[in-house]
Amino acid sequence: MPFSLPDGWSGRTLAAVRTKLLNWFDKHQRDLPWRRDADGELASARVPYWVWVSEVMLQQTTVAAVVPYFERFISALPDVHALAAADEQRVLKLWEGLGYYRRARHLHAAAKTLVAQHGGELPDDPAVWAELPGVGRYILGAVLSQAFDRPLPIVEANSLRVLARLFGYPGDPREGEGKAWVWFAAEAVVPAKRAGDFNQSLMELGALVCSPTAPACDRCPLATTCVANRDGLQSLIPPKKKPVAITEVAEVGVVIRDGDKLLLCQRRADAGRWQNMWEVPHAPRAEGEDVNAAAVRIVKALTDFDIEPGAEVMTIKHGVTRYAITLVCVEGTLAGGAFVPGAYAGAKWVTPDELAEYPVSAPQRKLMTALADPNRQPRLF
Ligand code: SF4
Repeated sequence: MPFSLPDGWSGRTLAAVRTKLLNWFDKHQRDLPWRRDADGELASARVPYWVWVSEVMLQQTTVAAVVPYFERFISALPDVHALAAADEQRVLKLWEGLGYYRRARHLHAAAKTLVAQHGGELPDDPAVWAELPGVGRYILGAVLSQAFDRPLPIVEANSLRVLARLFGYPGDPREGEGKAWVWFAAEAVVPAKRAGDFNQSLMELGALVCSPTAPACDRCPLATTCVANRDGLQSLIPPKKKPVAITEVAEVGVVIRDGDKLLLCQRRADAGRWQNMWEVPHAPRAEGEDVNAAAVRIVKALTDFDIEPGAEVMTIKHGVTRYAITLVCVEGTLAGGAFVPGAYAGAKWVTPDELAEYPVSAPQRKLMTALADPNRQPRLF
Protein backbone atom coordinates (compact mmCIF):
# COMPACT_ATOMS: atom_id res chain seq x y z
CA MET A 1 0.00 0.00 0.00
CA PRO A 2 1.56 3.35 -0.96
CA PHE A 3 2.01 5.53 2.11
CA SER A 4 4.20 8.56 2.54
CA LEU A 5 5.47 10.75 5.34
CA PRO A 6 3.75 14.11 5.98
CA ASP A 7 4.65 17.00 3.65
CA GLY A 8 7.95 18.56 4.53
CA TRP A 9 9.28 15.52 6.42
CA SER A 10 12.74 14.57 5.24
CA GLY A 11 15.28 11.95 6.23
CA ARG A 12 16.78 14.64 8.42
CA THR A 13 13.48 15.10 10.31
CA LEU A 14 13.34 11.37 10.97
CA ALA A 15 16.95 11.34 12.12
CA ALA A 16 16.19 14.18 14.55
CA VAL A 17 13.16 12.28 15.92
CA ARG A 18 15.33 9.22 16.55
CA THR A 19 18.05 11.19 18.30
CA LYS A 20 15.63 13.12 20.50
CA LEU A 21 13.72 10.02 21.52
CA LEU A 22 16.82 7.98 22.29
CA ASN A 23 18.31 10.83 24.35
CA TRP A 24 15.05 11.15 26.26
CA PHE A 25 14.92 7.38 26.82
CA ASP A 26 18.48 7.32 28.16
CA LYS A 27 17.44 9.83 30.82
CA HIS A 28 13.87 8.79 31.62
CA GLN A 29 13.43 5.08 31.04
CA ARG A 30 12.03 3.14 33.98
CA ASP A 31 14.31 0.66 35.66
CA LEU A 32 12.59 -2.62 34.73
CA PRO A 33 14.07 -6.06 35.39
CA TRP A 34 14.03 -7.13 31.74
CA ARG A 35 15.92 -3.99 30.72
CA ARG A 36 18.95 -5.15 32.67
CA ASP A 37 21.81 -7.17 31.29
CA ALA A 38 23.07 -10.44 32.76
CA ASP A 39 25.21 -8.42 35.25
CA GLY A 40 22.17 -6.54 36.52
CA GLU A 41 23.00 -3.24 34.78
CA LEU A 42 20.48 -1.21 32.78
CA ALA A 43 21.82 -1.80 29.28
CA SER A 44 20.98 -2.13 25.60
CA ALA A 45 22.54 -5.62 25.58
CA ARG A 46 19.57 -7.39 27.10
CA VAL A 47 19.10 -11.06 27.90
CA PRO A 48 17.10 -12.51 24.96
CA TYR A 49 15.09 -14.95 27.13
CA TRP A 50 14.11 -12.15 29.54
CA VAL A 51 13.10 -9.90 26.64
CA TRP A 52 10.94 -12.64 25.16
CA VAL A 53 9.20 -13.61 28.40
CA SER A 54 8.57 -9.97 29.35
CA GLU A 55 7.17 -9.07 25.94
CA VAL A 56 4.76 -12.01 25.98
CA MET A 57 3.63 -11.04 29.49
CA LEU A 58 3.26 -7.37 28.58
CA GLN A 59 0.79 -7.99 25.77
CA GLN A 60 -2.54 -6.66 27.04
CA THR A 61 -1.13 -6.21 30.57
CA THR A 62 0.44 -3.23 32.35
CA VAL A 63 4.11 -2.94 33.30
CA ALA A 64 3.21 -2.64 37.01
CA ALA A 65 1.22 -5.87 36.90
CA VAL A 66 3.93 -7.74 34.99
CA VAL A 67 7.00 -6.97 37.15
CA PRO A 68 6.24 -9.40 40.04
CA TYR A 69 5.10 -12.12 37.63
CA PHE A 70 8.23 -11.70 35.55
CA GLU A 71 10.51 -11.97 38.57
CA ARG A 72 8.73 -15.06 39.88
CA PHE A 73 8.69 -16.70 36.46
CA ILE A 74 12.39 -16.07 35.75
CA SER A 75 13.43 -17.26 39.16
CA ALA A 76 11.39 -20.50 38.74
CA LEU A 77 12.25 -21.08 35.07
CA PRO A 78 15.53 -19.23 34.49
CA ASP A 79 16.17 -20.22 30.89
CA VAL A 80 14.55 -21.71 27.83
CA HIS A 81 15.65 -25.25 28.79
CA ALA A 82 13.91 -24.97 32.17
CA LEU A 83 10.78 -23.58 30.53
CA ALA A 84 10.70 -26.34 27.90
CA ALA A 85 11.14 -29.05 30.55
CA ALA A 86 8.46 -27.63 32.88
CA ASP A 87 5.08 -29.27 33.31
CA GLU A 88 2.28 -27.22 31.73
CA GLN A 89 0.47 -27.01 35.08
CA ARG A 90 3.53 -25.33 36.58
CA VAL A 91 3.71 -22.80 33.75
CA LEU A 92 -0.01 -22.03 34.14
CA LYS A 93 0.38 -21.70 37.90
CA LEU A 94 3.22 -19.19 37.44
CA TRP A 95 0.99 -17.30 35.00
CA GLU A 96 -2.11 -17.43 37.22
CA GLY A 97 -3.70 -13.99 37.52
CA LEU A 98 -2.06 -12.51 34.42
CA GLY A 99 -4.90 -13.72 32.20
CA TYR A 100 -4.76 -14.56 28.50
CA TYR A 101 -3.39 -17.99 29.34
CA ARG A 102 -2.99 -18.87 25.68
CA ARG A 103 0.10 -16.66 25.75
CA ALA A 104 1.65 -18.91 28.41
CA ARG A 105 0.80 -22.05 26.48
CA HIS A 106 2.31 -20.63 23.31
CA LEU A 107 5.43 -19.51 25.15
CA HIS A 108 5.81 -23.00 26.59
CA ALA A 109 5.27 -24.69 23.20
CA ALA A 110 7.72 -22.31 21.53
CA ALA A 111 10.37 -23.07 24.17
CA LYS A 112 9.96 -26.78 23.47
CA THR A 113 10.46 -26.13 19.75
CA LEU A 114 13.56 -24.02 20.40
CA VAL A 115 15.08 -26.77 22.54
CA ALA A 116 14.12 -29.62 20.19
CA GLN A 117 15.11 -27.93 16.95
CA HIS A 118 17.62 -25.22 17.85
CA GLY A 119 19.54 -26.60 20.81
CA GLY A 120 17.82 -24.18 23.19
CA GLU A 121 19.30 -21.13 21.45
CA LEU A 122 17.17 -18.05 20.96
CA PRO A 123 18.30 -17.44 17.39
CA ASP A 124 19.01 -14.14 15.68
CA ASP A 125 16.83 -15.27 12.80
CA PRO A 126 13.39 -13.79 11.98
CA ALA A 127 12.47 -16.86 9.90
CA VAL A 128 12.79 -19.15 12.94
CA TRP A 129 10.80 -16.81 15.20
CA ALA A 130 8.04 -16.36 12.61
CA GLU A 131 7.33 -20.10 12.78
CA LEU A 132 7.03 -20.27 16.58
CA PRO A 133 3.60 -20.48 18.23
CA GLY A 134 2.33 -17.16 19.56
CA VAL A 135 4.88 -15.09 17.64
CA GLY A 136 3.20 -12.41 15.55
CA ARG A 137 4.75 -9.33 14.04
CA TYR A 138 4.88 -7.48 17.37
CA ILE A 139 6.73 -10.20 19.33
CA LEU A 140 9.06 -10.82 16.39
CA GLY A 141 10.04 -7.14 16.17
CA ALA A 142 10.18 -6.63 19.94
CA VAL A 143 12.45 -9.63 20.61
CA LEU A 144 14.75 -9.30 17.62
CA SER A 145 15.21 -5.55 17.96
CA GLN A 146 15.94 -5.68 21.69
CA ALA A 147 17.88 -8.92 21.84
CA PHE A 148 19.85 -8.64 18.60
CA ASP A 149 19.50 -5.00 17.55
CA ARG A 150 17.69 -5.90 14.34
CA PRO A 151 16.02 -2.80 12.84
CA LEU A 152 12.52 -4.26 12.98
CA PRO A 153 9.45 -2.20 13.86
CA ILE A 154 6.91 -2.75 16.62
CA VAL A 155 3.35 -1.50 17.05
CA GLU A 156 1.30 -1.81 20.23
CA ALA A 157 -1.15 0.51 21.97
CA ASN A 158 1.41 3.07 23.24
CA SER A 159 3.56 3.31 20.13
CA LEU A 160 0.45 3.37 17.94
CA ARG A 161 -0.76 6.49 19.75
CA VAL A 162 2.63 8.22 19.60
CA LEU A 163 3.10 7.46 15.89
CA ALA A 164 -0.41 8.56 14.94
CA ARG A 165 0.03 11.88 16.77
CA LEU A 166 3.61 12.45 15.66
CA PHE A 167 2.73 12.04 11.98
CA GLY A 168 -0.80 13.49 12.33
CA TYR A 169 -2.53 10.41 10.90
CA PRO A 170 -6.23 11.35 10.56
CA GLY A 171 -7.74 7.83 10.29
CA ASP A 172 -8.04 5.03 12.81
CA PRO A 173 -4.66 3.27 13.04
CA ARG A 174 -6.31 0.24 14.69
CA GLU A 175 -8.42 -0.71 11.70
CA GLY A 176 -8.20 -1.51 7.99
CA GLU A 177 -5.81 0.69 6.05
CA GLY A 178 -4.84 2.47 9.27
CA LYS A 179 -3.23 -0.74 10.57
CA ALA A 180 -1.06 -0.95 7.47
CA TRP A 181 -0.22 2.74 7.80
CA VAL A 182 0.94 2.47 11.40
CA TRP A 183 3.28 -0.42 10.56
CA PHE A 184 4.60 1.68 7.65
CA ALA A 185 5.24 4.56 10.07
CA ALA A 186 6.93 2.28 12.62
CA GLU A 187 9.15 0.85 9.90
CA ALA A 188 10.00 4.30 8.54
CA VAL A 189 11.10 5.63 11.89
CA VAL A 190 13.03 2.66 13.37
CA PRO A 191 16.80 3.34 13.22
CA ALA A 192 19.48 1.01 11.87
CA LYS A 193 21.24 1.00 15.25
CA ARG A 194 19.79 0.88 18.78
CA ALA A 195 16.52 -0.32 17.25
CA GLY A 196 15.52 -2.10 20.47
CA ASP A 197 16.08 0.99 22.61
CA PHE A 198 14.24 3.07 20.07
CA ASN A 199 11.23 0.75 20.05
CA GLN A 200 11.23 0.79 23.84
CA SER A 201 11.45 4.59 23.79
CA LEU A 202 8.32 4.88 21.62
CA MET A 203 6.38 2.68 24.05
CA GLU A 204 7.86 4.45 27.08
CA LEU A 205 6.95 7.88 25.72
CA GLY A 206 3.39 6.63 25.18
CA ALA A 207 3.26 5.27 28.73
CA LEU A 208 4.88 8.21 30.54
CA VAL A 209 4.24 11.35 28.44
CA CYS A 210 1.94 10.87 25.45
CA SER A 211 -0.99 9.46 27.42
CA PRO A 212 -4.39 8.81 25.82
CA THR A 213 -6.31 11.69 27.42
CA ALA A 214 -3.70 14.10 28.83
CA PRO A 215 -0.51 14.11 26.76
CA ALA A 216 2.18 16.24 28.44
CA CYS A 217 3.36 17.94 25.26
CA ASP A 218 5.23 20.62 27.22
CA ARG A 219 7.73 18.01 28.39
CA CYS A 220 7.76 15.85 25.27
CA PRO A 221 11.02 15.55 23.31
CA LEU A 222 9.01 15.44 20.07
CA ALA A 223 6.91 18.55 20.76
CA THR A 224 8.45 20.72 18.02
CA THR A 225 8.06 18.01 15.36
CA CYS A 226 4.71 16.47 16.34
CA VAL A 227 1.89 17.25 13.89
CA ALA A 228 -0.90 16.69 16.45
CA ASN A 229 0.77 19.13 18.83
CA ARG A 230 1.31 21.70 16.08
CA ASP A 231 -2.35 21.52 15.00
CA GLY A 232 -3.89 21.01 18.46
CA LEU A 233 -5.33 17.62 17.47
CA GLN A 234 -4.16 15.52 20.42
CA SER A 235 -7.73 14.76 21.55
CA LEU A 236 -8.77 13.65 18.07
CA ILE A 237 -5.73 11.54 17.16
CA PRO A 238 -6.09 8.63 17.35
CA PRO A 239 -9.91 8.57 17.28
CA LYS A 240 -11.55 7.09 20.36
CA LYS A 241 -12.27 3.35 20.33
CA LYS A 242 -15.88 2.43 19.66
CA PRO A 243 -17.45 1.25 22.93
CA VAL A 244 -18.00 -2.49 23.15
CA ALA A 245 -21.57 -3.65 23.91
CA ILE A 246 -21.48 -5.51 27.24
CA THR A 247 -23.72 -8.54 27.82
CA GLU A 248 -24.76 -9.40 31.38
CA VAL A 249 -24.53 -13.09 32.30
CA ALA A 250 -25.80 -14.73 35.53
CA GLU A 251 -23.91 -17.88 36.54
CA VAL A 252 -24.11 -20.38 39.36
CA GLY A 253 -21.03 -22.17 40.71
CA VAL A 254 -21.18 -25.06 43.18
CA VAL A 255 -18.71 -25.98 45.92
CA ILE A 256 -19.51 -29.71 46.12
CA ARG A 257 -18.44 -31.09 49.48
CA ASP A 258 -17.86 -34.60 50.60
CA GLY A 259 -16.68 -34.54 54.22
CA ASP A 260 -13.68 -32.22 54.47
CA LYS A 261 -13.01 -32.25 50.73
CA LEU A 262 -14.44 -30.40 47.78
CA LEU A 263 -14.58 -31.23 44.10
CA LEU A 264 -12.20 -29.51 41.74
CA CYS A 265 -12.77 -30.04 38.01
CA GLN A 266 -10.23 -29.65 35.22
CA ARG A 267 -11.32 -27.81 32.10
CA ARG A 268 -10.85 -29.55 28.82
CA ALA A 269 -7.84 -28.88 26.56
CA ASP A 270 -10.27 -27.67 23.89
CA ALA A 271 -12.29 -25.38 26.20
CA GLY A 272 -12.95 -21.89 24.87
CA ARG A 273 -10.79 -20.36 27.63
CA TRP A 274 -8.82 -21.38 30.74
CA GLN A 275 -7.88 -24.67 29.06
CA ASN A 276 -6.51 -27.35 31.45
CA MET A 277 -7.09 -25.08 34.45
CA TRP A 278 -9.19 -26.00 37.49
CA GLU A 279 -12.47 -24.75 38.95
CA VAL A 280 -15.63 -25.62 40.80
CA PRO A 281 -18.37 -26.49 38.31
CA HIS A 282 -20.25 -23.43 37.10
CA ALA A 283 -22.50 -22.47 34.22
CA PRO A 284 -25.11 -19.87 33.25
CA ARG A 285 -28.40 -19.84 35.10
CA ALA A 286 -31.55 -19.75 32.97
CA GLU A 287 -33.64 -16.60 33.21
CA GLY A 288 -35.88 -16.80 36.28
CA GLU A 289 -34.31 -20.11 37.38
CA ASP A 290 -34.00 -20.62 41.15
CA VAL A 291 -30.34 -20.65 42.28
CA ASN A 292 -30.64 -24.01 44.07
CA ALA A 293 -32.44 -25.62 41.13
CA ALA A 294 -29.74 -24.26 38.84
CA ALA A 295 -27.02 -25.68 41.14
CA VAL A 296 -28.54 -29.18 41.00
CA ARG A 297 -29.02 -29.04 37.23
CA ILE A 298 -25.53 -27.65 36.50
CA VAL A 299 -23.73 -30.19 38.68
CA LYS A 300 -25.65 -33.07 37.10
CA ALA A 301 -24.98 -31.81 33.57
CA LEU A 302 -21.27 -31.12 34.11
CA THR A 303 -20.22 -33.98 36.40
CA ASP A 304 -23.12 -36.48 36.73
CA PHE A 305 -23.06 -36.07 40.52
CA ASP A 306 -26.24 -35.51 42.51
CA ILE A 307 -26.13 -32.86 45.23
CA GLU A 308 -28.20 -31.32 47.98
CA PRO A 309 -27.85 -27.56 47.51
CA GLY A 310 -26.89 -25.51 50.57
CA ALA A 311 -26.07 -21.97 51.63
CA GLU A 312 -24.64 -19.27 49.40
CA VAL A 313 -20.85 -18.95 49.80
CA MET A 314 -20.23 -15.71 47.95
CA THR A 315 -21.03 -13.74 44.81
CA ILE A 316 -18.23 -12.79 42.45
CA LYS A 317 -18.56 -10.19 39.73
CA HIS A 318 -16.01 -10.31 36.93
CA GLY A 319 -15.60 -9.45 33.28
CA VAL A 320 -14.50 -11.70 30.44
CA THR A 321 -14.11 -10.04 27.04
CA ARG A 322 -17.54 -8.46 26.41
CA TYR A 323 -19.37 -10.30 29.20
CA ALA A 324 -20.12 -8.94 32.68
CA ILE A 325 -20.57 -12.09 34.76
CA THR A 326 -22.24 -12.38 38.16
CA LEU A 327 -21.25 -15.74 39.62
CA VAL A 328 -23.30 -16.86 42.62
CA CYS A 329 -21.42 -19.64 44.43
CA VAL A 330 -23.36 -22.04 46.64
CA GLU A 331 -22.49 -25.10 48.67
CA GLY A 332 -23.69 -28.51 47.55
CA THR A 333 -23.40 -31.72 49.58
CA LEU A 334 -22.62 -34.84 47.61
CA ALA A 335 -25.73 -37.02 47.49
CA GLY A 336 -24.84 -39.67 44.92
CA GLY A 337 -23.60 -40.49 41.43
CA ALA A 338 -20.12 -40.86 40.02
CA PHE A 339 -18.01 -38.39 38.05
CA VAL A 340 -18.26 -38.82 34.30
CA PRO A 341 -15.70 -36.97 32.16
CA GLY A 342 -17.08 -35.06 29.22
CA ALA A 343 -17.88 -31.48 30.08
CA TYR A 344 -14.69 -31.59 32.19
CA ALA A 345 -11.52 -33.52 31.42
CA GLY A 346 -11.24 -34.82 34.99
CA ALA A 347 -11.94 -34.09 38.65
CA LYS A 348 -10.27 -34.43 42.06
CA TRP A 349 -11.41 -34.28 45.67
CA VAL A 350 -9.10 -31.87 47.47
CA THR A 351 -8.89 -30.19 50.86
CA PRO A 352 -9.15 -26.38 50.99
CA ASP A 353 -5.43 -26.23 51.88
CA GLU A 354 -4.54 -27.92 48.60
CA LEU A 355 -6.41 -25.39 46.45
CA ALA A 356 -3.39 -23.09 46.19
CA GLU A 357 -1.49 -25.72 44.21
CA TYR A 358 -3.84 -25.68 41.23
CA PRO A 359 -3.84 -23.10 38.42
CA VAL A 360 -7.23 -21.40 38.36
CA SER A 361 -8.80 -18.29 36.81
CA ALA A 362 -8.96 -15.01 38.76
CA PRO A 363 -12.65 -15.32 39.81
CA GLN A 364 -12.10 -18.93 40.89
CA ARG A 365 -9.05 -17.85 42.91
CA LYS A 366 -11.26 -15.38 44.80
CA LEU A 367 -13.59 -18.21 45.73
CA MET A 368 -10.76 -20.56 46.66
CA THR A 369 -9.02 -17.94 48.78
CA ALA A 370 -12.28 -17.60 50.73
CA LEU A 371 -12.67 -21.39 51.03
CA ALA A 372 -9.13 -21.75 52.40
CA ASP A 373 -9.34 -18.77 54.76
CA PRO A 374 -9.12 -20.08 58.36
CA ASN A 375 -10.41 -16.75 59.69
CA ARG A 376 -13.56 -16.68 57.62
CA GLN A 377 -16.77 -16.85 59.70
CA PRO A 378 -18.64 -19.07 59.46
CA ARG A 379 -15.85 -21.42 58.41
CA LEU A 380 -16.70 -23.22 55.23
CA PHE A 381 -14.63 -26.29 55.97
S1 SF4 B 1 4.02 16.39 21.41
FE1 SF4 B 1 2.27 15.70 22.63
S2 SF4 B 1 0.95 14.59 21.22
FE2 SF4 B 1 2.95 14.80 20.24
S3 SF4 B 1 4.02 12.93 20.75
FE3 SF4 B 1 4.57 14.43 22.31
S4 SF4 B 1 3.11 14.15 23.99
FE4 SF4 B 1 2.32 13.11 22.17
